[in-house]
Amino acid sequence: MLTVDEARARIGAQIRTTGRLDTERVPIWEARGRFLTAAWLAGRALPAWANSAMDGFAARAADLPGTLVVTGAVAAGHPRAEPVAAGTAVRIMTGAPLPPGADTVVMFEESHATADGRHVTLPAAPVGAHVRHAGEDVAVGDAVVPAGARLDAAALALIAALGGDHVEVGRRPRVAILSTGDELVDVSVTPRPGQIVDSSAHALRALCADAGAAPSYLGVIPDRRDELAAALRQARDYDVVLTTGGVSAGDFDHVRGALADAGVVEDLWKVAMKPGKPLSFSMAGATPVFGLPGNPVSTMISFELFVRPTLLALQGAADTERPRAPVVLPAGYQKPTGRAHYLRARLQRDGERLIAHVAARQGSHMMSSMVGCDALIELAADVTEVAPGGTAPALLLEAR
Ligand code: AMP
Ligand code: MG
Repeated sequence: MLTVDEARARIGAQIRTTGRLDTERVPIWEARGRFLTAAWLAGRALPAWANSAMDGFAARAADLPGTLVVTGAVAAGHPRAEPVAAGTAVRIMTGAPLPPGADTVVMFEESHATADGRHVTLPAAPVGAHVRHAGEDVAVGDAVVPAGARLDAAALALIAALGGDHVEVGRRPRVAILSTGDELVDVSVTPRPGQIVDSSAHALRALCADAGAAPSYLGVIPDRRDELAAALRQARDYDVVLTTGGVSAGDFDHVRGALADAGVVEDLWKVAMKPGKPLSFSMAGATPVFGLPGNPVSTMISFELFVRPTLLALQGAADTERPRAPVVLPAGYQKPTGRAHYLRARLQRDGERLIAHVAARQGSHMMSSMVGCDALIELAADVTEVAPGGTAPALLLEAR
């Protein structure tokens, strides 16, 4: 059986071979969470012109300390062409262009103006005090946001400041979700004995959307090899196919056989992990096909480890990994060797340490263990014990 790392490396290698999906140009208002195709090169300097960092007086440093004649005021958005002559000062507001002649700013709090406001006494100040210099943030030509960066608030603000009203980003992967199982019914149906709601599809839809993909739910396919093969053939038009269930060794687990019937050669099956051992991965042409286990928890964890990095890579993300951090397990943990275990946990901060509250019920059918889970503790295959109060590595999931 492959280890988690081996399986991830194999899938990653396939995705690198086929490469990122094509790109599209989107308005910056709609670009949040997308991945930039190429580094954003500054076409302007920031600030574009020297301006004041404070509300105060613009003056000549050589005149200070001293009492100066106040000759006017300059507001943001209203450049003043008239130079600040020797022996004079101008009231200046934050963000207003520094008028010619002035080379320093003294903030109001350090000034003493006469009652009529015509004169002001200012302390000594060095050249450039409280002045935001042209180009000190960004110079023309700077690569301010790297290729593959996720467009978050800071990146969007900077690109907008540089006049970028559109950005080139990786296209969203279109993901087909097929649930398999005779027992599955739609959420709108009250299950009869033996039936359950197709809940994994809802997990997968949400996870796909969170990863920037565009999911399409193709419905429940019964446990029949011919119907599955037909459904898989149709789904090949998508960028990624996810099936859930029917990929284990049961009598009615037909996903792998159906893939073979559809002409798809399986690349890997079974990963030494818990939950989620029965994972199947193959490439149907350029379309990655993930046969995910049926249990909702197994499906979600398999998605996290194998599908999410794939969806991000297809969008051109430079970084497809979750952050990892050591977390404390107050009660410790014991497990057999052979498979990596992924424990669902909720984190709590205790000073510098992250305390993991491991869900009491870790069964792969225990959906309640996933709710509010913000960390997956990763216990490698050869680990048998974490002592009480010991630490283990955890994948930090997005804060909910
Ligand atoms: P399977 O891998 O098809 O044997 O399914 C494993 C377990 O997960 C069984 O208990 C199934 O009933 C359950 N299961 C399979 N698919 C889903 C689904 N889409 N939603 C919820 N549970 C499922
Ligand atoms: Mg099944």
